[in-house]
Amino acid sequence: MKFWPNATKLAEHLKNNVKGKILPNHSLKNLTWFKVGGTAEILFIPEDFDDLVTLLKIKPKGTNITIIGNASNLLVRDDGIPGIVIILGKSFSYIQKLKNNEIVCGGSLQNKKLSSYALKNNIGGLAFLSNIPGTIGGSVKMNSGAHGYQISDILIKVNILDSNGDLMERSLSDLIFEYRKSSITDESICVSVNIRGHLSTREKILKEISSFKSQRISSQPITEKTGGSTFKNPTDRKAWQLIQEAGCADMSVGDACISKLHSNFIINRGHANAHQIELLGENVRKVVMEKTGVDLEWEIRRLGYGPSINL
Ligand SMILES: Cc1cc2nc3c(=O)[nH]c(=O)nc-3n(C[C@H](O)[C@H](O)[C@H](O)COP(=O)(O)OP(=O)(O)OC[C@H]3O[C@@H](n4cnc5c(N)ncnc54)[C@H](O)[C@@H]3O)c2cc1C
Repeated sequence: MKFWPNATKLAEHLKNNVKGKILPNHSLKNLTWFKVGGTAEILFIPEDFDDLVTLLKIKPKGTNITIIGNASNLLVRDDGIPGIVIILGKSFSYIQKLKNNEIVCGGSLQNKKLSSYALKNNIGGLAFLSNIPGTIGGSVKMNSGAHGYQISDILIKVNILDSNGDLMERSLSDLIFEYRKSSITDESICVSVNIRGHLSTREKILKEISSFKSQRISSQPITEKTGGSTFKNPTDRKAWQLIQEAGCADMSVGDACISKLHSNFIINRGHANAHQIELLGENVRKVVMEKTGVDLEWEIRRLGYGPSINL
């Protein structure tokens, strides 16, 4: 990954060839749930699918491509992300019902909207998405899940653009999904997703949504500046329990602290920067390793560059 010596010049070249928004040195801070982080060297919001393909085809060789959704599972480091950062925007937020409880939607559709659409159409199996604050594209990449369900349970296929602008259709069996992980590579863009639920009733779905909502309100800091679960749960253990067991629940670095409601959530309680959040996470990992012998793996995706972490 490298920054361009003259991003403004590259931006001008791109602007002359695409219709969407090209924003050089654009701050990503307010776009992320954590409300921290540096700039995108160039932020691109395509006008439509063809516009996205054009950009991918004309970008100079070696340009780093990063795709972000709702940035609800991201820590953008303070020195920013080199190359072109892509946000899919409105033209990728369509949704349509097909036969047999199948739904096709664009990669930037919010999970909440997908879940509400399924409710309206009496399609069950999508209620778990109602409280996951991301886009369907980001959720497929992360194999997001909650309450015992995950995206790979309902996925039929996904259309993926590679970094050269070539479109591939990948069915569930072409991909590997594990806990909060998929085989979709980092520069691949999920542009549309087909999922299948099952016939249900409004009452049943509403009951599920409301039960999931109350479980979440009581157990997660959903109104705070956070990035969701910081670490993946190791096999047979819960990350929050290990963090408590290791005595890390009260740790903080500046305004970055551990949530009182859920020890696996880091919160920015005011003016933390990305470095402080990452440093807190690494401090917690170190102590958990020393005290329990478990090496926690980050679930939050950390992007771009920042000061190095010295423990
Ligand atoms: C309060 C809170 C609660 C949460 N609860 C849960 C939960 O219960 N379960 C859970 O699994 N997660 C949870 N999360 C994490 C997060 O919401 C999910 O991982 C979400 O699905 C990420 O989607 P996003 O659009 O925000 O992706 P981002 O955070 O923007 O990106 C995440 C990853 O996906 C990639 N990506 C984004 N869009 C695309 C795309 N269109 N194509 C290809 N790759 C893409 C990014 O490059 C990055 O690697 C929670 C987060 C918060 C803040």
